[in-house]
Amino acid sequence: MFPNLNNAMKRGVVFAGRDLKIIAKAIHEKTPFYALTGIMPTSEQIHLGTKTVVENLKYFQDNGAETYILVADLEAAAARGVSLDESRKRALNFYIPAYIALGLDPKKTRFYFQSENTSVIKTAFEASRQITFNEIRAIYGNTEPGRIMSAVTQIGDMLYPQLKHRKPGIIPVGIDQDPHIRLARDYINKNRSKRFSTLSSIYYKYTPSLDGSIKMSKSAASASISLPEDTESVLKKIKRAKTGGRNTEAEQRTLGGQPEICLVFELDKQHLMDDKELDDIYKKCKSGKRLCGECKGICCNKMTEFMNDFNRKFHEAKKDITKIDFIKE
Ligand code: SF4
Repeated sequence: MFPNLNNAMKRGVVFAGRDLKIIAKAIHEKTPFYALTGIMPTSEQIHLGTKTVVENLKYFQDNGAETYILVADLEAAAARGVSLDESRKRALNFYIPAYIALGLDPKKTRFYFQSENTSVIKTAFEASRQITFNEIRAIYGNTEPGRIMSAVTQIGDMLYPQLKHRKPGIIPVGIDQDPHIRLARDYINKNRSKRFSTLSSIYYKYTPSLDGSIKMSKSAASASISLPEDTESVLKKIKRAKTGGRNTEAEQRTLGGQPEICLVFELDKQHLMDDKELDDIYKKCKSGKRLCGECKGICCNKMTEFMNDFNRKFHEAKKDITKIDFIKE
């Protein structure tokens, strides 16, 4: 449906979506549409999985989308007690340079802070008049005030690019963010004036921890890769990673390995290898030609290249951060 899919789309890391035909049509017919994502500046590290968010945003950017990144400073203040000043500092010193280092083109991206965008806040208030407790409860399971504020502010964000001109938009998110998309789509459907075009979304898989857990436990955190992180520490995690290797070398040579359940292969697939390299790893693993130690070594080399490249681009992007013009309305 979409032209020239990126690796995440080709390899099933992006696994679902809503109303994608509308976006595909806009891409093919070169008509206006937008892509938007948010930064929640709650720490000074991001998970490696953020790379997938940026790649998807960049995909739509490269295919003609107006691209927006918002800093969710109001939500960070309400939900996590992070002051607006602290959010600004983290966004400028870390998050935005990191997104640029991961491939986002700042010249083609529009940035804003929620707290500086009164149009977003206005839309959120308007939306709050048409949303009921029952809807919030059905979608989120509770009606805590912070949850409600956050939900309506996100509607304001997601619809902001359409305030001047109605146009389709796509939001790339992890599947746990789907409730926000559903609420915004319900709100759009209630708007009888057809003021807004419906929202499309794509959902991507999370990068699993290298110990195999997906839930955020202490052990999962210690087996996850963050940016920035000391390269030596990342390589140690890869060396300890759970693989799909057999119990003995003889068994692996005879039966081959199991890339389908291997977390090193998952890391290669989601973030590190091109198609040819990935195909080679898969075939050599399945045929028993390659053992896990050698395979981890190849992964470590690629990861070192990636980390060096990220660090270099991150420092370059930081130097240019004052050139970014934030929307204020
Ligand atoms: Fe995973 Fe590589 Fe071992 Fe296959 S050979 S199970 S891909 S680490």
